[in-house]
Amino acid sequence: MLSSTDIYPWQQTQWQYLLQANQQQHLAHALLFSGVADCGKKDFAVKIAQALLCQNKNDQYTIPCGQCKSCYVFQAKSHPDYQHIGLEDAKKDIGVAQIRELSRFLELSCSYGKMTIGIINDADRMSNEAANGLLKTLEEPPKDSLIILVSSNPTRLTATIRSRCQNLSFPPPNQNTALAWLKAQNVQHSAEHLLSVGMGRPLLAQQFDDESLLKQRSQCFKDIVIILQKRKNIFDISPQWVKLDFQMLLDWQITWIQQCIIIHSSVSHAKQWDDIAPQFKQLTCQLDSQKLWQLYDDFLKLIPKANHSINQQLFVEKMLLIWLYAQA
Ligand SMILES: [Zn+2]
Repeated sequence: MLSSTDIYPWQQTQWQYLLQANQQQHLAHALLFSGVADCGKKDFAVKIAQALLCQNKNDQYTIPCGQCKSCYVFQAKSHPDYQHIGLEDAKKDIGVAQIRELSRFLELSCSYGKMTIGIINDADRMSNEAANGLLKTLEEPPKDSLIILVSSNPTRLTATIRSRCQNLSFPPPNQNTALAWLKAQNVQHSAEHLLSVGMGRPLLAQQFDDESLLKQRSQCFKDIVIILQKRKNIFDISPQWVKLDFQMLLDWQITWIQQCIIIHSSVSHAKQWDDIAPQFKQLTCQLDSQKLWQLYDDFLKLIPKANHSINQQLFVEKMLLIWLYAQA
C-alpha cells in the first residue's frame, strides 16, 4: 500500500492540496509541475495520478489504497486511463506525433469511470509543432481528462501553454529535510558531502553515492585546472567528456564558477568540496572576478544548446574552449 509517507517529505503540501482540490471537484484540467530538477517532481506526478485514479475513498489523503482494481492495473503499468510521455531515446525533443497520440487517448471515455490522465515529462522539450498541437487540446480539454506537464525549465514553455495550466511549484527541500531523507536512504558517503555535491537536490545527491560518478565529477574538475594550466590540450580530454551527460556537465561547471565568484566577492560562505579542495583553491586563485563573470555568462548561453546539440564532440570542445580562452 502506498501511503502519504511514500511521498517525499518536502512534497506533502502539494499532495494534500491536489487531493483536496479533487475531492471538492476544483481540480484544473491541466497542471504544470515546475521546479528544480532532481527533487522528485516526476515521481510525484506518477503517484498523484495513481491516487486520483484509485477507486477507494480515504479522507486522510493517504490514498492510493494499493488494493483496488485501479491500483492493481496501475502498478502493473497497464492502466487503461493513464499514459505518460517524455523524451524518447536519442530524440532531441518531444515530437508532434507523441502529442497527437496523447490527445487522442485523452478523448477516449475512461474505462474505470473516473478520469483519464496524461503526463508529459520534460514538457519544455516539446518541438514547436508539438507545443502547438498540445495548445489545441488545452484550449478544448476533453471531458474528465487531466494533463500534467512536468518541467524543470517552465520559462521555456510558451506563455500561451503556461497560461492554460494551473502552476504548482515544487521548491527543493531545505537542508535539514534533505539531509534527514538522504540518511534514511542508508547512503554510504556522508550525507552532507553528497548534498553539497548534488547542489542541494536530494535525488541527485543520492546518485552521487555511486563512487564512479563522484570520481567522474572530481576528474572533470581536475581536467579544467589542467586545461587552464595548458598541461594538456582539449582533444586529450574531450573523448572522456563526450561520454557524460551534458546537462550534468553544465550544472557542475556553473556551480563551480558560482562558488568561485562567491569566494571572490566574500559576500557569503562558499561551499567546501573535500574531494576537489586543492584544485578548487588553484582555480579560484587563477581567475579574477571579471573572468569568472565572463565564464558564467558563456556557460549560461550554452544551457539551451545542451539538449539540442547535433554534434556532441563539438559541444564538449566548445565547453573546454571556454576555459582555455578564460586563461588566454
Ligand atoms: Zn486504489
